[in-house]
Amino acid sequence: ETHKETLGFQTEVKQLLQLMIHSLYSNQEIFLRELVSNASDAIDNLRFQAIAQPELLEGQGEPRIRISTDKDAGTVTIEDNGIGMSRDEVVANLGTIARSGTAELLRGMTGEQKKDSQLIGQFGVGFYSSFIVADRVEVFTRRAGQPASEGVHWSSEGQGEFQVATIDRPEPGTRIVLHLKEGAGEFADDWRLRGIIKRYADHIGAAIEMPKRGEDGTATTEWESVNDASALWTRPRNEVSDDEYRSFYQHIAHDFEDPLAWSHNKVEGNLEYTSLLYVPGRAGFDLYHRDANHGLKLYVQRVFITDRADQFLPNYLRFVRGVVDSGDLSLNVSREILQNSPAVGSMKTALTRRVLDMLAKLAGDDADKYAKFWDQFGEVLKEGPAEDFGNLEKIAGLLRFASTHDDSGKPSVALADYVARMKEGQEKIYYLTGESHTQLKGSPHLEVFRKKGVEVLLLSDRIDEWMMGYLREFDGKSFVDVSRGDLDLGSLDSSEDKARQEEVAKASEGLVERIRTVLGEQVSGVRVSHRLTESPAVLAAGEHDVGAQLRQLLEASGQ
Ligand code: ADP
Ligand code: MG
Repeated sequence: ETHKETLGFQTEVKQLLQLMIHSLYSNQEIFLRELVSNASDAIDNLRFQAIAQPELLEGQGEPRIRISTDKDAGTVTIEDNGIGMSRDEVVANLGTIARSGTAELLRGMTGEQKKDSQLIGQFGVGFYSSFIVADRVEVFTRRAGQPASEGVHWSSEGQGEFQVATIDRPEPGTRIVLHLKEGAGEFADDWRLRGIIKRYADHIGAAIEMPKRGEDGTATTEWESVNDASALWTRPRNEVSDDEYRSFYQHIAHDFEDPLAWSHNKVEGNLEYTSLLYVPGRAGFDLYHRDANHGLKLYVQRVFITDRADQFLPNYLRFVRGVVDSGDLSLNVSREILQNSPAVGSMKTALTRRVLDMLAKLAGDDADKYAKFWDQFGEVLKEGPAEDFGNLEKIAGLLRFASTHDDSGKPSVALADYVARMKEGQEKIYYLTGESHTQLKGSPHLEVFRKKGVEVLLLSDRIDEWMMGYLREFDGKSFVDVSRGDLDLGSLDSSEDKARQEEVAKASEGLVERIRTVLGEQVSGVRVSHRLTESPAVLAAGEHDVGAQLRQLLEASGQ
């Protein structure tokens, strides 16, 4: 070993390590999933780079991940022939966390084991999860294409610091040795590991190999494959079990939990591609980060290209996870090509519809799951009407609102429910926007609707008023903001009502004139209203004025 140095972990890593070890002890086996997942990524990466530089393969043969154990030494070793790391990469990747959302994660930790383990699980613990089971971890690696003398040895006890040194390493790729903690000795058992691999990693595209056991149970020098090693999405739907779909989701989404729904399709004809799309059960930390890791995993003819292909779905569906494998794109696709390719454009149109249909199906099949979806992603979906005019009707069908129909304030009303409940003679869909559900419920604008028994949607998300600017109608019925202008509820009034209203209007002319004189320029008009039953007066916005919610937003931003 030469050039040996000791370096400190970035503060966030230290914190994460602490938290992880304490909150994940009942979920120890995930370390294997994380390390196998990294090995698989490294293999994908090498294959991708070798398209342009075949010499990187260094005659290594088939991609494979080898896992072996030593009971006496209490170690587990995981080795891959993927891309490997240079010394600088080792220091950066295994000494810091670059992932967005790290700060939120650390702030969100409560000290409550179950909650924290969910948070961490959703964040994706990655390489550092080795320290859940090991009290010392060693990494031997060399970047493919670098000379054998540029190998790196990293080691750490997972406390505050780690060592790096330069070593000779003839073969490219990475070997990770875990020195198991007391109490984690069970993982030095082949059979235990095989079980975990079956559960978490069967669908990994590369072969996962373990030593073949002889008759007497001792390890031989031969290796045998212990996983299926066929990329899951390439298999026919009826040959993939729900459990396999779920564990594949957990692999690509770095999520402990199950997805709410998925859709797996093979398209043939003009364009050939396979897609496997998932709706997660929970919003990731980075849902609102502009630079976050959104997008699908893109493969071209089963060769991994990128896991941030965000050209295949619109922004308002950025929560979707999954894989697209295209038969038409070239292996040398760049960002620019993806952005401008007509094939990608057509795929985006089709995949968008697929997701919207999958959501509609979920809403129809399982109201509870859909409510969970809405709770997590409703606000993102509300960006849809502004972004995707072509799918307005479909998106509108997926929206959920609180309304005067029930008092819970829960967003459970679909526009179709509203329409089905419309009164005889009612032609419009009425809504009111505001700061909070409580404030909306007490609004004088609702008085006349209560009296007439007409339902009003109550919208209190920040994005609502902006969104309603793009939603013109649903099922042929236009939307009306009940706080605006002169509400024409004529078709809901009886002829007696109308006669009485005219009388009142006539009788009040003098009063109206006096109020108008007193208020002068402060208002644009004063009218007799028939919409109030209890309050004497209400301030209404003009038909084309900016609404109250948007006005407050604009004022807050200094406009
Ligand atoms: P993530 O996989 O989400 O990026 P990890 O903590 O699992 O986070 O890994 C951090 C980084 O370390 C990876 O992005 C990769 O660059 C590098 N890395 C980890 N394991 C390997 C490996 N077996 N071969 C090459 N690089 C690796
Ligand atoms: Mg990883």
